[in-house]
Amino acid sequence: MALTEQELQTLSYEPDVSGHFGDYGGRYVSETLMAALNDLDQNYHMLKNDAEFQREFDADLATFVGRPSPLYHAERWSKQIGGAQIYFKREDLNHTGAHKINNTIGQALLAKYSGKPRVIAETGAGQHGVATAAVAARLGLQCVIYMGADDIQRQSPNVYRMKLLGATVVPVDSGSRTLKDALSEAMRDWVTNVDDTFYIIGTVAGPAPYPQLVRDFNAVVGREVKWQSKEVFGKYPDALVACVGGGSNAIGLFYPFLPDTEVAIYGVEAAGRGLSTKEHAAPLCSGRPGVLHGAKTYLMDTADGQIAHTHSVSAGLDYPGVGPEHAYLKDIGRVKYVGATDDEALSAFHEVSCVEGIIPALETAHALAYTKILAANMSSDQTVVCNMSGRGDKDIFTVAKIEGISLT
Ligand SMILES: *Cc1c(COP(=O)(O)O)cnc(C)c1O
Repeated sequence: MALTEQELQTLSYEPDVSGHFGDYGGRYVSETLMAALNDLDQNYHMLKNDAEFQREFDADLATFVGRPSPLYHAERWSKQIGGAQIYFKREDLNHTGAHKINNTIGQALLAKYSGKPRVIAETGAGQHGVATAAVAARLGLQCVIYMGADDIQRQSPNVYRMKLLGATVVPVDSGSRTLKDALSEAMRDWVTNVDDTFYIIGTVAGPAPYPQLVRDFNAVVGREVKWQSKEVFGKYPDALVACVGGGSNAIGLFYPFLPDTEVAIYGVEAAGRGLSTKEHAAPLCSGRPGVLHGAKTYLMDTADGQIAHTHSVSAGLDYPGVGPEHAYLKDIGRVKYVGATDDEALSAFHEVSCVEGIIPALETAHALAYTKILAANMSSDQTVVCNMSGRGDKDIFTVAKIEGISLT
């Protein structure tokens, strides 16, 4: 299914009217949700080109988030590796510490412009919950966050942050008491309260039009890199690298560069304890197509067709599916998807902290681990831009525990 270079340059990269990227995406949902998704689709396509909506989105990105985020030359690390010049796109400097706020602002504004005073979201590690709660406070929207009861125990600082920001956190006691059960509860809430409620999804997954609109809100990242790279080193980068959980930080960087085939693009999945084990979260590297959370995409399942239990040292990559657009970009050969293990990510986490003075998120550390391998095989006049999707403050407890250090 891989396309030729010329085909890749002229492709539209937009989903079709039924929300499909090639074979992937679509809307595999109940009849009751179908009406809500149709409404959202209509509202989104109207507001996307609305000058007032765009002005408010851009203003919030500038003064609430702190955009544009810098393009930073990791000079010492590049020299140490001895290959290409490595640049970090500093999404870690955004308000609330990651790229997720770009998307939550966009969706919260959609809620406001659609006359919905209440927003809901599901969260696993709590990062999307915090970003949603912050934006809801900013816009004066009522905010309810669904979170698995086990995750609430594990992520108590983020639960408290959400509460400080005025959100109600609802513990979900059913099933495995984690993210996928929280997601089911949020869906149930949305179906029941669709007249006054907007469901803010945290990544480029879910039924159409979510993968497209989440991508569009995050694409500010790649648009900035287009002008910043010209300004900083006089040309587009030779390669882009980003980690892929659901795939929103990755597609945000990649999307504006898709037709520019001289730019090589790499998505890095969590290879956990190794792709040859079952303990990873890398559906594009070693899963297969199926239906998950309302869309057709690559996923990880067991021999008898159950969604597999995944593993990654980083909570934000620990997901058995991936956004449908990534499934398509894999099949047509525009983006290459690779894995980085827990150990490789941890090693990059420490290296970049000590050499560059930036503690990256553990998710980001997967992208950094592959950046290192890639850059080592390139020449010093070439450039790689790695998306620094988030900061590592949230991860210091996890890393300390692995090192056998007690922080209390
Ligand atoms: C949530 C998160 C991710 C993974 O989500 P994507 O949708 O794949 O971007 C990556 N990095 C950080 C810092 C995150 O918080």
